[in-house]
Amino acid sequence: MKRIFGIETEYGIAFTQGEQRRLGPEEIARFLFRPVVDWGRSSNVFLPNGARLYLDVGSHPEYATAECDALPDLIAQDAAGDVLMTDLLARAQQALEADGLDGRAHLVKNNTDSAGNSYGAHENFLVRRTMDFTHLTSVLLPFLVTRQLLVGAGAIIPQGIAADLRPAESNRAIPHGAQTTAPPRPGGLVYGLSSRSDVMWEGVSSATTRSRPIINARDEPHADAEKYRRLHVIVGDSSMAQTTTELKVGSAALVLDLIETGVPIEDLSLQNPIRDIRAVARDLTGQHRLTLASGRSLTVIELLGIYLEHAARVVDAGDHCLGDDDSAARVIDLWTRMLQAVESGDLSAVDTEIDWVIKKKLVDRYLQRSEAGLADPRIARLDFAFHDLTPETGMFPKLQAAGLARRVCTPEEVSSAVENPPATTRAAIRGRFVAAAHEAGRDFTVDWVHLRLNDQMQRAVVLRDPFASENEQAEALIAGLDRPPSPYSA
Ligand code: ATP
Ligand code: MG
Ligand code: MG
Repeated sequence: MKRIFGIETEYGIAFTQGEQRRLGPEEIARFLFRPVVDWGRSSNVFLPNGARLYLDVGSHPEYATAECDALPDLIAQDAAGDVLMTDLLARAQQALEADGLDGRAHLVKNNTDSAGNSYGAHENFLVRRTMDFTHLTSVLLPFLVTRQLLVGAGAIIPQGIAADLRPAESNRAIPHGAQTTAPPRPGGLVYGLSSRSDVMWEGVSSATTRSRPIINARDEPHADAEKYRRLHVIVGDSSMAQTTTELKVGSAALVLDLIETGVPIEDLSLQNPIRDIRAVARDLTGQHRLTLASGRSLTVIELLGIYLEHAARVVDAGDHCLGDDDSAARVIDLWTRMLQAVESGDLSAVDTEIDWVIKKKLVDRYLQRSEAGLADPRIARLDFAFHDLTPETGMFPKLQAAGLARRVCTPEEVSSAVENPPATTRAAIRGRFVAAAHEAGRDFTVDWVHLRLNDQMQRAVVLRDPFASENEQAEALIAGLDRPPSPYSA
């Protein structure tokens, strides 16, 4: 089984003020994107590594990885996004200082900003069109509701669950690309698994203009629509540890495999997935009881254990889509160890691999050493520092260097992914075209499926097959870049 994956990450921006005027995140975002605009004459560009980098309305820059067909490539391409962003941040800081501004810009890979806006990481999975989409999502949904126990980023969230399970203003239109805000709630705070759970209002829906669904059913395949669909999962947290990213995407991909290979699986549909997703987020023990539509009751650990058993069988049979047997073995191993750790209450076996566990250790230690409670601003600062990519102030690079946060790929593999697209998907063609057209100083337009030189009458080259890393027309287009545009062609 083969599959295409991609991750989109929205980053947060903050500015610690100097003595002078305060800069808003939108101004920082403009500083951040100056080199991008200089390079590509737009704040929405495709890069030589095949990825898309863009700034929508608002101030959450986004990096969408190129299409990958193997999990190790995806981890490297995703990590390359952090490197690219950090590089832009360093340049923005220099520009700010050159303008005489004395604060510091920060880039954070977190999921909630200081105003309470929620954003995250979208996961994209190619699925076959022949697959019944309703069946697919009904098997996947209970897994996505509970997956946060395996791979949540950890978050300090209100203890109480809002009684009303509909968005505060349920008919309020949320413009495409806008961030949703969780309504404020009374009560104390708890250390929970994920802050995204509270802004999810539906299981599956294409009406993202109304409310945030766990699975966005908008049908935009970015590929041959007769053969493929792109499944767009928007419930996930951005991940800091590469091992967390690997388990997050790998486990979901294996669940898709078991559905697509027709492994018989009992109906695990939940009676109330939106109530459950909030309750699961507040339970670090995995003992929350889920009521299935069938009336059966299972704990979160039991439910994830059923999916694990099926996923392990898919891997054993060599039927998995992860493109690399070692990755598949690691996914099954970490999934198993994570459930054992939660069940036993001893998280030490996974405390360098899973974001919420790594962060919890830091928070617990701080709480023990000081008088602070979870509401203390110092805890909020610790949480921020955990996700801060700013080399001078961020904590994660130090955790990685000290062996307290595990890697999946080497720094060399990540550096290579900054420059080079995955070799085995159509991203390889796009990357070469972008690099060559830019080098030749040509005006070009690219999206996931098309390549076009704007100074030519020729139609765009269409890359309908995301698995194809070669295309004759694209080769001809790239070869022609050596020649200056003909005065007759425009
Ligand atoms: P927006 O973010 O504006 O809502 P979008 O969801 O279409 O748009 P992009 O930010 O353009 O997403 O990113 C698309 C992601 O989907 C990328 O990570 C890309 O690698 C991935 N992708 C592209 N084609 C496919 C495909 N056929 N199947 C699965 N993933 C794909
Ligand atoms: Mg996007
Ligand atoms: Mg998206």
